[in-house]
Amino acid sequence: MRPTDISDPGFFHKVVDCQYACPAHTPVPEYIRLIAAGRYSDAYMINWQSNVFPGILGRVCDRPCEPACRRGRVEEQPVAICRLKRVAADYKDDITSRLPHPATQKNGKRIALIGAGPASLTVARDLAPLGYDITLIDDGKAGGGMMRTQIPKFRLPDSVLDEECGYIEQMGLARRYNERVNSLKSLLDEDYDAIFVGTGAPRGRDLDLPGRQEAGANIHLGIDWLSSISFGHVTAIGKRVIVLGGGNTAMDCCRSARRLGGEDVKVVVRSGFEEMKASPWEKQDAMHEDIPILNFLVPKEFTHESGRLTGILFEKVKAEYDAKGARRL
Ligand SMILES: Cc1cc2nc3c(=O)[nH]c(=O)nc-3n(C[C@H](O)[C@H](O)[C@H](O)COP(=O)(O)OP(=O)(O)OC[C@H]3O[C@@H](n4cnc5c(N)ncnc54)[C@H](O)[C@@H]3O)c2cc1C
Ligand code: SF4
Repeated sequence: MRPTDISDPGFFHKVVDCQYACPAHTPVPEYIRLIAAGRYSDAYMINWQSNVFPGILGRVCDRPCEPACRRGRVEEQPVAICRLKRVAADYKDDITSRLPHPATQKNGKRIALIGAGPASLTVARDLAPLGYDITLIDDGKAGGGMMRTQIPKFRLPDSVLDEECGYIEQMGLARRYNERVNSLKSLLDEDYDAIFVGTGAPRGRDLDLPGRQEAGANIHLGIDWLSSISFGHVTAIGKRVIVLGGGNTAMDCCRSARRLGGEDVKVVVRSGFEEMKASPWEKQDAMHEDIPILNFLVPKEFTHESGRLTGILFEKVKAEYDAKGARRL
């Protein structure tokens, strides 16, 4: 057996389960110790180095670190690693003087980043202090990408987004917002040394069932509907709402519907409760808001009258498993 090489960060990543499980390998125990000592700004800076958006992630991270937390083996719940990140972000002092300053000397390389979502902003944060000349191009009026246009404000307020996107935008970046890149060729003609395509994957799934077209005025695609709320184009919804789907987008839709006037809001899912893609806490939050989740119902048809949606027909199913464990509904 080889001696342990404690100079290799990989060793600590492997023995500290939560840190290893975090995609950004955030040094979780270190920042939690700092919070316990009341050193919120220091805890924030540890996070900022690793995961760029601590205040945002402290609210919306999918927290793969928590199922890995060892306390979960001896207690009912793991340490609330994600929410502790929010604690550090909310209680910190002004940390702006501790952020990298815009490079005083440029290195002569120009980079265009298409999209100003978390991917491009992270590239900008890492490269701007090294002297790269960065241009951010986004078709929206502000940075943040889907964090701004999709994640509902009750989960992630604009103030937190503005603050953390702002830390990066202030690093001397050129911003070309409200501009859509329609031709990579014309951007290449601008003579950048590199172009980073951070345009995301903003497409929802439609459900092409009988009645879809006829009742179209009352049927919305989750991701488009959420951005319409975010832009202020949608401010109300009918009293009875059905949300189809079992992922986190569905959870955001049902909770948004509740806030826009939906009184009888239900989530209907083809699969069972345990197999739903939504994170356990997202399901819990929806149920705490009196939104029932109905499982094993497969939508068959949108019913309508004079162009108005009147209901949805479902087929009740059950899960059967073959010898190899493959599921059939
Ligand atoms: C409803 C919903 C809820 C979510 N909730 C969470 C959550 O709680 N936690 C979590 O971690 N993740 C969540 N996500 C996922 C998260 O938002 C994305 O993973 C993340 O935003 C992807 O970042 P990105 O930078 O790759 O792309 P995006 O955030 O999509 O940013 C891409 C940017 O590029 C712009 N753009 C695209 N094409 C062009 C073009 N041709 N020219 C100029 N600009 C262009 C877009 O307008 C956008 O601003 C959620 C997603 C959705 C849809
Ligand atoms: S909350 Fe998210 S960013 Fe923070 S340690 Fe866990 S997985 Fe990493």
